[in-house]
Amino acid sequence: MWVDSHCHIDYEGVGHDALEEARAAGVGRMVTIGTDARTSLAAIDTAAAHEGVWATVGLHPHEAVHGAAPIAAILGRHNPVVVGVGECGLDYYYEHSPRPAQREAFAAQIHLAASHDLALVVHTRDAWDDTFDILSAEGPPPRWVLHCFTGGPVEMQRALDLGAYVSFSGIVTFKKAENVRAAAAACPLDRLLVETDSPYLAPVPHRGKPNRPAFVPLVGAAVAAVRDVNAGDVERATWANAAAVFRLPT
Ligand SMILES: [Zn+2]
Repeated sequence: MWVDSHCHIDYEGVGHDALEEARAAGVGRMVTIGTDARTSLAAIDTAAAHEGVWATVGLHPHEAVHGAAPIAAILGRHNPVVVGVGECGLDYYYEHSPRPAQREAFAAQIHLAASHDLALVVHTRDAWDDTFDILSAEGPPPRWVLHCFTGGPVEMQRALDLGAYVSFSGIVTFKKAENVRAAAAACPLDRLLVETDSPYLAPVPHRGKPNRPAFVPLVGAAVAAVRDVNAGDVERATWANAAAVFRLPT
């Protein structure tokens, strides 16, 4: 079975119907991701109501201007379905929140992951240096994921040096993503994850449509193709890696 390490089940275009569909497609586990207080609470409710679904609680860099205090409060109520903090990080491409606010919310969530002994889920766009600098300065948590990896082997190595698990999305199927495929080929098998980031970034041949967790096997197959291995090898490794980084039952 596959694990979708990063999806947004409660976002428009996905929904709870996607869970049955995912299971039928061989996707046995999903981690649904919070991006602010509201979506984090929705993720917790969804995970609590469905077998094989876990949640994260976090503040996306787009929302960083609102501050991480509500996220800290939700994490303080310790719920066993919560397996991670984030997604958090830096987005200097859209820059919907001012950069200093993004950096502050990111640092705060690095500490929340450490203090609650949870995985950290990191989003970064056009911000490699600051992302790695802040992780280094604050001390990377023992378990963290660089989600929707968009770089090449050089950026991947910088992440691996800080202990990252590297999660590949449907981008690996996009025509122009040669650097991402090179990273997917080179990623150590015990650090590799796959995700959909549903409803975004649907893989080929569904590009442009709402993405679904049921499409994660297509991402896995693309990763397997660039590594020249069977999809089953990637399926088994990413299942084990998701269990390790999010401490899911084995
Ligand atoms: Zn996401």
